[in-house]
Amino acid sequence: MIIKLKKNIDEVLKNNIIEKLDNIGYKSNDVTTQYADYIIGVGSKEFDIREVGVLNGVEDIHRVTSSAKLVSRKWKTKETIIDLGDDIKIGGGHFQIMAGPCSIESEKQIETTVRHLLDNNIKIMRGGVYKPRSSPYAFRGLGIDGLKLFYKYCNANGIKIITEVMMTDQIEDMYEYVDIFQVGARNSQNFNLLDALGKVNKPVMLKRALSGTIDELLASAEYIFSNGNEDIMLCERGIRTYEKAYRNTFDINSVPLLKKKSHLPVVIDASHGVGIREFVEPVSLAGIIAGGDAVITEVHEIPQIAFSDGAQTLSHKEAEIYYENVRKTVRFRKDLKRF
Ligand code: PEP
Ligand code: MN
Repeated sequence: MIIKLKKNIDEVLKNNIIEKLDNIGYKSNDVTTQYADYIIGVGSKEFDIREVGVLNGVEDIHRVTSSAKLVSRKWKTKETIIDLGDDIKIGGGHFQIMAGPCSIESEKQIETTVRHLLDNNIKIMRGGVYKPRSSPYAFRGLGIDGLKLFYKYCNANGIKIITEVMMTDQIEDMYEYVDIFQVGARNSQNFNLLDALGKVNKPVMLKRALSGTIDELLASAEYIFSNGNEDIMLCERGIRTYEKAYRNTFDINSVPLLKKKSHLPVVIDASHGVGIREFVEPVSLAGIIAGGDAVITEVHEIPQIAFSDGAQTLSHKEAEIYYENVRKTVRFRKDLKRF
């Protein structure tokens, strides 16, 4: 249930509404949009909504009939812009390249990558320190110490960090070192994690699950939004199909569909989407033409020795050509500001 509050209502009235919902058996979350303040009531008990509608301070109240209302264009027609500070924005006409290794491996690797990104005017570095791996014997990341090193070099050079959080209890320790929390494909429906990220004051990039539908992706984003965090990006990273000729099937259709259904920015991850180095560029460019607001791409100085996902990773040399072609493609999109 969505309760729109009257402008500038005092805390007593607001607490009164929250208490009423609590008595009925509903949990309350605060959501503030550019237009108004809301309380989102979460619960399943049937009751006459006029009981809440008549309370002082309530402007309007509606039942939620869809599992993805707040992230839809019906709720907000204007596109969401993720503002990372220092004039680095994604969505609503702002495009970014996010690049870096699959995994953070060493201090030297971070240093080399930061230099490569600076040379190519890229402002967001990716890199996992907590790695979801299919095998328990594979490299699983450097953890919080790796993240601190990652932060040390990025912070000193004005580069923002996107990295994956796998568990709720990692959020607090990671918080000050992260600019965007990534939710990986395997955690796309980890509802406790999504709830917790909804209470965090940092952007979240939510990946589509391995076999996730569009509606499931949007419903997962709704978990985050309905807990109060509106700074969400949706990431198409390919889905699992019967086709075995490549790692995943990048679902190009999802890009215009998500853009139509949702006001949230859409990020193109062709690295995982196709899983083969030489196809990362054509698939990324197709994703941009289809309406993507950013690309996230795995790059490594020497992909052949990368600790994870080397086969889909561009060398720094290859990446330079790739960035050029991404920029050229962005220029085709009349709705995007040049970057
Ligand atoms: C990654 O970004 O390295 C990753 C593990 O991605 P995904 O969750 O899409 O598999
Ligand atoms: Mn990877």
